[in-house]
Amino acid sequence: MIYLDNNATTRPLPDVVAAMSEAMQLCWGNPSSKHALGQDAKRVLAAARADVAALLGAQPVEIVFTSGATESNHHVLHGALHRPAMPRRIILSAIEHSGYMKSALRLRQEGVEVVLVPVDAAGRIDLDALRESLQQDAALISVMAANNETGVLQPIPEIAAMARERGIPVHVDATQMVGKLPISFAEWGVDLLSLSAHKFHGPKGVGALLIRKGLSWPTLMSGQQERARRGGTENLPGIVGMAAAARHARSCLADEALRETALRESLEASLLDQVPGVTIYGQDAERLPNTVCLSIAGFSSDKILDRLERKGICASSGAACSSGGSDPSHVLLAMGVPGSVALGAIRLSLGLDTHATDIAAVVNVLQELCRPEAPLQNPAAV
Ligand code: PMP
Repeated sequence: MIYLDNNATTRPLPDVVAAMSEAMQLCWGNPSSKHALGQDAKRVLAAARADVAALLGAQPVEIVFTSGATESNHHVLHGALHRPAMPRRIILSAIEHSGYMKSALRLRQEGVEVVLVPVDAAGRIDLDALRESLQQDAALISVMAANNETGVLQPIPEIAAMARERGIPVHVDATQMVGKLPISFAEWGVDLLSLSAHKFHGPKGVGALLIRKGLSWPTLMSGQQERARRGGTENLPGIVGMAAAARHARSCLADEALRETALRESLEASLLDQVPGVTIYGQDAERLPNTVCLSIAGFSSDKILDRLERKGICASSGAACSSGGSDPSHVLLAMGVPGSVALGAIRLSLGLDTHATDIAAVVNVLQELCRPEAPLQNPAAV
């Protein structure tokens, strides 16, 4: 099998599995308990917090462990509207993650003004439109660091500076960037940041919300855990697994980013050269090292994915979260891609296990797919 769906999820590393198994067998106390077993768990939790903070250029106290980016994003969204004396107006880029976007748009029914900031044809946020949207007060601005479908990066420090000038809290969904490119929560100057462990070789169902030190953010789940910012007994095995994944990412991120960029560039060059009708979305923008979003003229995404699948290659159409649906991707539509074309888009997302032979295999399959069928012979003439 060739796995090219690393933006959907990644393989948990052996070190991650081992750390989780050890935590479950040896460190199963409740970190809130005062006895020795609980205090052991508390120490392990503190060490994991430090490891995750180190990957993100954040302080350990800024980390709130959650069940993943979906929860973190919703904590940000609903928290923003529960802060005292905040305007009922929020600003989002038009390409935020589909689940988060849906929840935000639903708030319109409750009278919240939800402003969507457009992106250009390459998927980069329109900074003039953003500046314009910031003229009026808002309770929140959310912009994702790297798009899950196209891999296109946004200029987060610049966006954060613009929002800070207006005193508007800035949230970044960095789920796709963590573990792929360096991140500094402190240097970015943002207030809130979301991530999920399973996107960088950790376990599923665990992630974090970073809340800038000194910023008070309403809690959605009461309880004394996580400094009363997120109640509920901590998912210690998951958190320990995330910490192991964070340590691994820190140790190899720079080299791996270069390696995957080279593979991605060779994949794109071969596709453009050898497969007729290929369009690569966001090609002119700065992107994640691992992500290629493309369509092939005349082919539906189902047809392409089916052919890849039959050759043992796992990929997905646009966002895995919305694949299976028949709607075109809101991200590609926001980039001005016509709906009928956007329906043909597929995403290849490379990872630690991707090698040059895999790239060659994909190119080969897509080349074969597009090769004109041999003309049917007239049976009478044979
Ligand atoms: N944000 C982004 C950018 C994502 O790619 C994803 C996962 N596809 C999420 C949020 C949600 O992550 P999870 O399903 O782990 O909560």
